[in-house]
This record gives sequence, structure tokens and C-alpha cells, in this order.
Amino acid sequence: MRPVYFDHAATTPVDPRVLEAMLPYFGERYGNPSELHLQGRVARRAVEEGRAEVAALLGADDGEIVFTSGGTEADGLALLGALAGFDPPGRVIVSAVEHDAVGEAARALGRLGWAVDVVPVDGDGVVDVDAFAAALRPDTRLASVMLANNVVGTLQPVAELARLARERGVLFHTDAVQAVGAVPVDVAELGVHLLSLSGHKFYGPKGIGALYVRRGTRLQARIHGGGHERGLRSGTENVPGIVGLGVAARIARSEAAARRPGLEALRDRLVDGALSALPGVRLLGHPRLRLPGNACLAVRGVESEALVVRLDDAGVMAAGGPACASGASRPSPVFLAMGVGDDEARGGLRLSLGRESTSADVERFLRVFPAVVRDLRGSSGADPRA
Ligand code: PLP
Repeated sequence: MRPVYFDHAATTPVDPRVLEAMLPYFGERYGNPSELHLQGRVARRAVEEGRAEVAALLGADDGEIVFTSGGTEADGLALLGALAGFDPPGRVIVSAVEHDAVGEAARALGRLGWAVDVVPVDGDGVVDVDAFAAALRPDTRLASVMLANNVVGTLQPVAELARLARERGVLFHTDAVQAVGAVPVDVAELGVHLLSLSGHKFYGPKGIGALYVRRGTRLQARIHGGGHERGLRSGTENVPGIVGLGVAARIARSEAAARRPGLEALRDRLVDGALSALPGVRLLGHPRLRLPGNACLAVRGVESEALVVRLDDAGVMAAGGPACASGASRPSPVFLAMGVGDDEARGGLRLSLGRESTSADVERFLRVFPAVVRDLRGSSGADPRA
């Protein structure tokens, strides 16, 4: 039996149509897009077509898309590139539940003399809008709040936060790595200056992403060289990656909305089944304002790592709460920021469904999950009725 893959928040499989479109660019179409000859022009055309597809997915102009090596680089370019022009350093706002790609970039800014204000979230993981508004000070230059959280899947009120920031003349960046391809993302509706995305989170390849840079937004390069990407990101373009990202964007634009209700129904069936199968299991994150494929559970009386290993043995691939903190066995900072108690945070389990998930996958998980948890609770001496 094929193992069940419930870790789409970590990465998605490459869509076969994406792979097929990329292959010629590893073969006969090997040109460098900077060259004027035939091979170069073929590559340039492919890069620009990819750019147009990414722009169309976001409702942006082609000239507002900068290709990067992925979400991490896009986040770093946004924060460090946008603030490089300010002297003396001022203040920057981030939420308490950002991915490390933003959190560590903010810490790096801190080492450069910037004051970093961390805005709290409520028990569902939603950023406190009043606290955000209060954190906007006269010397605040940039705020960064993610569109969708990678652990609990909570969607943030980015349009509202960006409006508050704009009213105060503050740049607004959103890490939309988990949101793009999963929920509609339109840069005009969001009103953001900067937005990061990553190919491998929506059925594209790894190692390619993009930063949307609203026209007129001042940004300094972090990688210097031949002046590629309008001088914002030097280095010969990842042509196959860009082609793949473009096709993934096109597929997302034409198919994601239609797939969403089915994905949500599967996710809801999984959550209902898991919660009714056992006591001491709770859904983390906002009950409605969440990514369609995300089910993040707190399972009392077990350790996430053991749960993930035992589920894997039973043919179900899932992630522990700290999945995105490099597998460290400390509870996710996201759980701590949400005020999730230690006993629940230790048993965090992230199940993220995707395009190829089926109801048979969900039923299989629901068959193995109660037995695995009961067994682990028994062996840890925890009260199985916890
Ligand atoms: N931001 C978020 C919210 C993510 O979930 C991830 C990936 O886990 C990243 C950024 C980093 O993206 P990449 O893996 O493309 O560097």
C-alpha cells in the first residue's frame, strides 16, 4: 500500500506538468538568458514567461517580480534589502509566529542596531490588531506579518494590518509562502509592498521562489554581481526552476479555487475523526480562518517525535509541531506564542493535506491514529484519558 503523505506544508510533490515543462531546460534549451544568441533568447523568453505567470497569479505587474532561490531568500531580501537604505536604524515589527526566515532576518537586523517589536497573537494564532497598531511608532520603517502560518495554518488579517502600516508610511512585507496556491493571494487587495513565495510549497520545484516588490518600493540588493533581476538579485537565472515555478503558478491560478472545497472537506473529516476517536486531542489554530489543507492537533500525553515516528511506521507521514524548527525537540515557538500549555505543545502533530490526498488516506490515518496514541500513552505512563 502506498504510504500516506500528510506533510504538504513541508513540501509538495512536483506536478507532472511542471516537471515536463522543466525538462527541456536541463537538455537542449541550455542557454544563458543574458546572451543575445538563439540559445540565450530561448532562455530569456522562458524566464519572462515564468515571470508573467507568477505576476498573473498575484495580480502584479511582470516588472514587480524578482526571482530568488526560494522563500528564505525572498524573506531576507525583503527585510534586509528594504531596510538597508535607512540610516540611522529605526524599528521593525514582526509577529510572534513568523517562520525563522523572517524571525532570523529580524534578529540580524537587531544586530545591526534595529529595534525589533514582536506583536503577540491570540490563542488561535491570530495577530492582535490593536497591539500591531500600537507598535507602529514614528521611527517604525517596516512590518512583516505572514499571510498563513506554517505550523497551525492560521490566516492573518494582512489587508487590515497593511492598511494600518500604509497610513503611517510604514513598509509592509508578508511571507505568503504557505498561502500562495492554497488561498487566493492578490497584492492589490492585500495592499502590501513586498510579498514572498516559494515554488516547492505549491507543486513547483525546490530552490526557486520570488519576491513581489511593489513598483516604487526602495530595495537594495543583498547578492551583488552582474545586475540580474533589475539589479536586485545578481546571478545567472535558474531557468528550469523559473519555468517550473511559472507552470506551477499557472496551474494554481486555474485549478486551486476548484480544489479548495474538496480539500477542506477532507481536512474537516480528518479533524472530526481524530477529535472524536480519543480524549485529550484538540485542534490548534483558528477553527475557520486557516489553510484548507492544515490540521494541527495537540495530543496530550505523547511526545510529537515519537508520534511522528510511529505514524511513519504505520504508513502515514506527518510532522511534529516543531517541524519547521529543524527537527529540534523543543515545542514550537508558535505554540508558545499562542499560549498552548506545555503538555499540549509537546504532543503537537501537523497533518497537511494536498492535491493528491484522498478520503482513503484520511480513513487510513483515522484507523492507525487512535491505536498509536493509546500505545504511546500507555508506554509513557500518561493517563490515557488525559
Ligand atoms: N516561510 C514559510 C512560512 C515557510 O513555511 C517556509 C518553508 O518552510 C519558508 C518561508 C522558507 O521557504 P524555502 O523553503 O523556499 O526557503
